[in-house]
Amino acid sequence: MKNKMRAAVVEAFGKPLVLREYDIPTPGPGQILVKTEACGVCHTDLHAARGDWPLKPTPPFIPGHEGIGIVVALGAGVTSVREGERVGVPWLYSACGHCEYCLSAWETVCASAQFGGYTQNGGFAEYILADPNYVAHIPAGLDPLEAAPIICAGITTYKGVKEADVRPGQWIVISGIGGLGHLAVQYAKAMGLRVCAVDIDDRKLAHASKLGADAVVNAREGDPVEAVKQVTEGGAHGVLITAPSLSAFKQGVGMTRKLGTCVLVGLPPGEFPLPLFDVVANCITVRGSFVGNRQDMAEALAFAAQGKVKADIEVRALSEINQIFEQLEQGEVHSRVVIDLRKA
Ligand code: NAD
Ligand code: ZN
Ligand code: ZN
Repeated sequence: MKNKMRAAVVEAFGKPLVLREYDIPTPGPGQILVKTEACGVCHTDLHAARGDWPLKPTPPFIPGHEGIGIVVALGAGVTSVREGERVGVPWLYSACGHCEYCLSAWETVCASAQFGGYTQNGGFAEYILADPNYVAHIPAGLDPLEAAPIICAGITTYKGVKEADVRPGQWIVISGIGGLGHLAVQYAKAMGLRVCAVDIDDRKLAHASKLGADAVVNAREGDPVEAVKQVTEGGAHGVLITAPSLSAFKQGVGMTRKLGTCVLVGLPPGEFPLPLFDVVANCITVRGSFVGNRQDMAEALAFAAQGKVKADIEVRALSEINQIFEQLEQGEVHSRVVIDLRKA
């Protein structure tokens, strides 16, 4: 095995990533080393590189939390994965395993949770150190390039749709049809829901229709809240907001039917106003949702392995990372870019 690896590194917030050579890390006790095949580029990586959120990573760090690869070395005491197994190194990199949240399958909100590509180095690198207790197990037959978006965009929207508390036949609005949203539409259809897709880009909406959306609304034309209310005859039973834009949040609450649930998943920095009277008098639930637990991961991957959801990917090289970030920022990425780490 060679002893150097290429990685794309955030050295300072708001600056282009730097391509650097690093020593390949050695797994310590309880760790594994994964040779990366593929890593998706999530809008969260942009927030990370800009230092957008109150909890900030510490530069220099390697982003990427949709890394898929093969286990090539085990640290002392590791028994839960084997060398040669294909795993994913997700956003939920590790957690304590013992607190009230970990014990109730809410390890995503564990106070000691570590985040891949954020508080721990991630998948924009040829090798990743990982915690074997928290890696995703990639089903046989699922291509690593196609598996990559499932371990963040997929699990997050699969869980988000479940958190909307909707039943087959009811309406769900998916707001934002990008990396997350194009998978959300597919999970929602696979669960028997009626889907109204909302975006500001007609190309994304045309894609949503192809993926099975029953109705589409362009949030830049007219009053999107009224348009959704008309289509859904009074508002959607569930709303899932993936758009990285604050204006989508107030609109999303307005699109929610009486007694319905509005699930917040997108993470633009800032705050948005809640129309208190409407939320109270209509008994609306507004709920945050953060990735998903390890069982959600297995279920989200199973949908993909069974061909019920399929990530729409554009395969690129690590050396193009700054161009990819620019395109993601401008809304020019069609669905999801996946970096093939086996490419130069
Ligand atoms: P993306 O850039 O691939 O997609 C965003 C989509 O939103 C685009 O199609 C864009 O056209 C659309 N959009 C922009 N403004 C809009 C508006 N006002 N109304 C409707 N649509 C609008 O981004 P992504 O990778 O899908 O990530 C989306 C957001 O979700 C990011 O903020 C990311 O950090 C967050 N995220 C949250 C979680 C979580 O666990 N809660 C997990 C992953 C990502
Ligand atoms: Zn992500
Ligand atoms: Zn914990």
